[in-house]
Amino acid sequence: SKSFKEISTRDLTTIMEKNRSYYESGKVADYIPELGKMDPKALALAVVDEKGKIHSVGDINKKFTMQSISKTIALMLAVMENGEKTVFEKMGYYGTDKPFNHFANLETMGKPLNPMMNAGAILTTSLISGSGQLPFDKILDMVRYITNNPTLDYSRIVYESEKETGHRNRGMFHIMKNVGLISGGEEQLDNYFRQCSIELTAEDLAKIGYFFAHQCIRFDGDKRYKDAEMSKLIQSQMLIAGMYEFSGEYARTVGLPSKSGVGGGIVVSVPQQGGIGVFSAPLDSHGNSVVGYRMILDLAKQYNLGVF
Ligand code: GLU
Repeated sequence: SKSFKEISTRDLTTIMEKNRSYYESGKVADYIPELGKMDPKALALAVVDEKGKIHSVGDINKKFTMQSISKTIALMLAVMENGEKTVFEKMGYYGTDKPFNHFANLETMGKPLNPMMNAGAILTTSLISGSGQLPFDKILDMVRYITNNPTLDYSRIVYESEKETGHRNRGMFHIMKNVGLISGGEEQLDNYFRQCSIELTAEDLAKIGYFFAHQCIRFDGDKRYKDAEMSKLIQSQMLIAGMYEFSGEYARTVGLPSKSGVGGGIVVSVPQQGGIGVFSAPLDSHGNSVVGYRMILDLAKQYNLGVF
C-alpha cells in the first residue's frame, strides 16, 4: 500500500466517487429539527498530511455543525484548567455499548461513563471556568485557533433547536446536579448546546485531527498548546468511545482515533502522521456518517493508516 506521504487529491477523488451513492442507505438526523434540513447529497473529504499541507475534494466549502466532535475540544480545555485527575474523578475512562444519549451508569454508579458520550460531555463543559457564555467562548476560540480560522462561529438556529428539543440532555444535566457532580445553572447546559452548534468544514476537521495526532501542534507549526500527554488522552478517548457504540468494531476495521457527530462529520487522527475530515449528513443506525465511514475505511486500507 501507499504511504500517507503520497496522498493525492486524485486518490481522494477516486475514494469519494466510489462511495458517493451510499448516502441513500443513511438517514439525516432529524431529532434536532434544524439538522433535518441538511442536504443529504453534500459530500467532502479532506486530509492534512504530515507536513501540514491540506488536500481536499468535494463540497469543501460546505459548513455543517460539529455536534459531538466538539467534545474533544471541551475535554482539552477542562483538563488544561483542572488537571486530568480532577476531571476523571467525576467520570470514567470506560468504553461503551450504549448510544450517545444514554444515561448509562449515571444512575447506578453516579458517574458518566466517559467524556465522549453526552452525560460526560455535558459535565466536562460545566468544568470549564467562567460565568455565562464564557466557557463556550473558550471552546469556540480554541476551535478557531486549531483551524486558524478566526471567523468560525456557531449556528444560532441549530442552537435554539437543540435547546428546545434537548430533553434527554436536560434530564442528564439535572441528575448530575442531583448527585452533586454539577453545581451551576442551566446556562452550563446551554454552553453544551452552543458547542454542538459550531459550524465548520471538512478541512477544519482535518486540521483538528492533525492537531491531536501531533502533540497538539497546529497544522502550520504553531506550538502554543504543545502537549504530548494531552494528545494521548484525547486520542485514547476518541478510540474507545468516539464512534458511539460502534467504537469497538471501528477500532477493529479502521483502527484510528476518531470522533463523529450527528451533523455528519467525522474527525480522524492518524497518530504522528496527520488528520482526516469527512462530511456527509446521512447517518447509520449508530449515528455515524455512512459515506464518511466508508471513505475513512478505504483511506485507512489504501494508505495502511491503522495503528495496529
Ligand atoms: N447535540 C447532540 C446531542 O446532544 C450531539 C450528539 C452527537 O453528535 O452525538 O444530542
